Amino acid sequence: MEDTLFAKIARKEVRADMVYEDDEVIAFLDIHPINPGHTLVVPKRAVRNIFDVDENTFEAVMRAVRRIAPAVRDAVGAEGMNIHSNHEAAAGQVVFHLHIHLIPRFKNDGYHLWSGKTYPHGDAETVAQKIRNALEARKYVKPTTPSV
Ligand code: AMP
Repeated sequence: MEDTLFAKIARKEVRADMVYEDDEVIAFLDIHPINPGHTLVVPKRAVRNIFDVDENTFEAVMRAVRRIAPAVRDAVGAEGMNIHSNHEAAAGQVVFHLHIHLIPRFKNDGYHLWSGKTYPHGDAETVAQKIRNALEARKYVKPTTPSV
């Protein structure tokens, strides 16, 4: 895997406004915040994104997210938070080292989320079945199909 900016920050070769560190994870302020306190939670291990991260590393990242989010909220007086992550260029990933955005939110802060589409009739069932099949092929537990 390429040596990314966030790997350099994890090795302390590039400075960042660090807010958290444990054995597996660091967190620092995003240099271009959507709102003040916008924080990135990053594994020290070099993993590209959700498609190659191992479960232990991802669990460590999400454990840190749960610890850090309330502290960010309290520090900046946020009224809410978006926890967001981009995986591959098509989804907006720019730095190819897994990271989770903690974005403090305030009422009427002008940051708009995407709006949802509607499935054409029958397509939702087809897509859900394809996802269940893909999960089964990976030997994960098959979810039950709702009876309604
Ligand atoms: P993404 O589009 O999810 O890959 O987001 C990458 C994020 O990294 C962007 O929100 C950038 O503002 C942020 N970023 C880029 N360089 C730095 C840096 N040196 N320190 C902190 N955040 C950075």
